[in-house]
Amino acid sequence: MLANMFNGLVRAAYPPLCVSCGVETEAENGLCSDCWGDTYFIDGAICDSCGTPLIGEDMGDELICDSCTHAPPAWIQGRASVVYDGGGRRIILALKHGDRLDVVIPLAEWMIKSGADLLRKTDVIIPVPLHRSRLFTRKYNQAAALGNQIAKRTNIQTVPDLLIRTKRTKMQKGMSRNERLENQSDAIQVNPRFVQMIVDKNVLLIDDVMTTGATMSTCANECISAGAATVNTLVFARVARDE
Ligand SMILES: [Zn+2]
Ligand SMILES: [Zn+2]
Repeated sequence: MLANMFNGLVRAAYPPLCVSCGVETEAENGLCSDCWGDTYFIDGAICDSCGTPLIGEDMGDELICDSCTHAPPAWIQGRASVVYDGGGRRIILALKHGDRLDVVIPLAEWMIKSGADLLRKTDVIIPVPLHRSRLFTRKYNQAAALGNQIAKRTNIQTVPDLLIRTKRTKMQKGMSRNERLENQSDAIQVNPRFVQMIVDKNVLLIDDVMTTGATMSTCANECISAGAATVNTLVFARVARDE
């Protein structure tokens, strides 16, 4: 009851804003009608591996896109809520901007719907770590914010600092320019403090947006090397492939 009262007070002080464009809207935790029409929610036939929408109807078969067939990702199953385009792209920008924490709640709800199959078999939710270069411009890791919200609503454990960025520290002597750049770039590692949290566990990796899936693959490989039983992925927005 207290929570309801609190929500009522929050609503009175802050009228609901469209999560995509920020205009005041009647729909709570939702989109204004313009953005609703401009946001492509993924349903119907999808690739079971990467969640990208596929042409044709969902006949209940397990479909795999051409790209995942040719180069299977490091994880098993993947889901996404929207295509990264139009309204979906604006939502990601609002989230990245960092002053719209209210956006996290509807996004988490949409992700819970899209990832329902995967959440049922998840033991632990792990967010993709924030890129080091972005720490200067952003106050928080939006993947962790989404992971925390999803974990809270599904009663699944989350370990926000399980994956960490580390600097490669090989000696630079004798390296080419490209090798040096690579050496200086971030690497992702399982935090040794928390490694026991994923051993023999079914991991669900969370991020706000997936483009090529390269970062997600690194995260999945690190979790598998550290002893995770399975790794699946759930993102809010997916850059759709032309297939
Ligand atoms: Zn809008
Ligand atoms: Zn795919």
